[in-house]
Amino acid sequence: MSTREFFGHVIDNVEVDSVDGARFDVWNPWKQQVWAQAAEGGEEDAKRAVASARRAFDEGPWPRLGRAERGKALHRLADRIEAATDELATLDTTNMAKPFAQARHDVARTVQNFRFFADHQRESASEAYPMDSGHHSYVEYAPAGVVAAISPWNFPLMMASWKIAPALAWGNTCVVKPSEDTPASVTMLGRLAAEAGLPPGVLNVLNGHGAPAGSALAADPKVDRVTFTGSSATGRRVMAAAATHLAPVSLELGGKGANIVFADADLDNAVYWACEAIFRNAGQICLAGSRLFVQDAIYDEFLRRFVAAAQQLRIGDPFDPQTQFSSLASQRHFEKVSGYVASVQDYGGRVVTGGAAGDGSLVVLPTIVEDLPLTAAPYCEEIFGPVCVVNRFETEDEVVALANDTPYGLNAMVFTENLSRAHRLATRLRVGTVWVNCFFIRDLRTPFGGVGDSGVGREGGNFSREFFTEPKAVIMQIDRG
Ligand code: NAD
Repeated sequence: MSTREFFGHVIDNVEVDSVDGARFDVWNPWKQQVWAQAAEGGEEDAKRAVASARRAFDEGPWPRLGRAERGKALHRLADRIEAATDELATLDTTNMAKPFAQARHDVARTVQNFRFFADHQRESASEAYPMDSGHHSYVEYAPAGVVAAISPWNFPLMMASWKIAPALAWGNTCVVKPSEDTPASVTMLGRLAAEAGLPPGVLNVLNGHGAPAGSALAADPKVDRVTFTGSSATGRRVMAAAATHLAPVSLELGGKGANIVFADADLDNAVYWACEAIFRNAGQICLAGSRLFVQDAIYDEFLRRFVAAAQQLRIGDPFDPQTQFSSLASQRHFEKVSGYVASVQDYGGRVVTGGAAGDGSLVVLPTIVEDLPLTAAPYCEEIFGPVCVVNRFETEDEVVALANDTPYGLNAMVFTENLSRAHRLATRLRVGTVWVNCFFIRDLRTPFGGVGDSGVGREGGNFSREFFTEPKAVIMQIDRG
């Protein structure tokens, strides 16, 4: 009998094995060991989870609760999550080698997601219009139904909560499928939801691989909304599956973020954020500043400082409180990222610092690359690791063209002390988010999402409400004339 931890599906508030008993190994990438097992969901398990959510939506109390009651229930869940911060962070750190301090930060953001949407659904106003014809009209937001939420491994708990919190807040029920690489923390979230007294079926967790578990969810005609975060290639498959039953999708996909540093920037600030933007979470961030454009006049000075800062990052065991940077999240991902770095020379580029640690670990050191042609794969494709490709530019027009020359369009960063230029670039960059003189700061009321290959739709504040509800027009006759 194995003493390893087990992460089952959570269906109807009960943790269960798969119908056929199948399980898969869960890895600790820092130790390169199996540390747990999870239920391997198949089509039957997906159906079971969706049926539970369907029942809870069609017959259960959740969509019919008053807004205050629903808000209170979600705050209770947030309290539980907060109380379990270290335990949840330990699961994510064990599961994907995220430095523990960063994993704790992710839990804090998870708590914030639940609290924000618990309040937002209660406080947001709907439009009402007096009409000259003697009527007035208003908009009602009815819960959409059953939400399938499919999430990635880079922020296992936080990304899932970004979907679950608004879905539940707006009265839906949910089946969440975490990545097969990181099933632990989301399964624990399912357990906490049951402990917090959410009615059975309101939040179900389905574990398993993209296919068949994820694909069965997206294709299930009993699902009313599909919200997905992951790669652009998978996003296309999810959208096609949801199209078979015309379920609206929200897709948060890959990125190749441009980080633009003008000569008038506060260099200390720009270097700090350039490092955060590509080396936080070992660069496994959709929003990573993976293409860095530095204006000619400061190029050499900036590169010198950036390289020095990258080399000073403390690398090691993700549980060591001093560690800022650790291994990649899986063997498969290590091979992908180190393959890109190894190809740099073939394209005529130069690795200024970094590369695979070469010590048998899954660490790819903070890596800075220059002189790559604009058609080289490591320049054009999403590496999703700690690899920053640096380029020079002279003029504003030139850098806007360079930044926009990508199929992706998730985010960009601009470092300048010139206010007018900052606003001009914010308008001209073809992305969903522009950060000026900062990075990674979120206001949950604003839209989050990308253009082009970076996604479809927006979430956040009222944008989440629009996706997770069926807005309904009600027209009242006031004046019988
Ligand atoms: P992925 O596309 O491989 O997997 C994401 C999820 O989809 C996993 O749960 C996976 O099991 C599931 N899945 C795989 N195939 C499926 C299918 N056919 N049908 C339904 N579900 C399926 O992505 P990943 O490697 O886990 O995550 C990394 C990617 O996510 C990167 O491209 C990154 O940029 C992107 N990402 C985007 C955002 C954003 O907000 N835009 C945030 C985080 C990550």
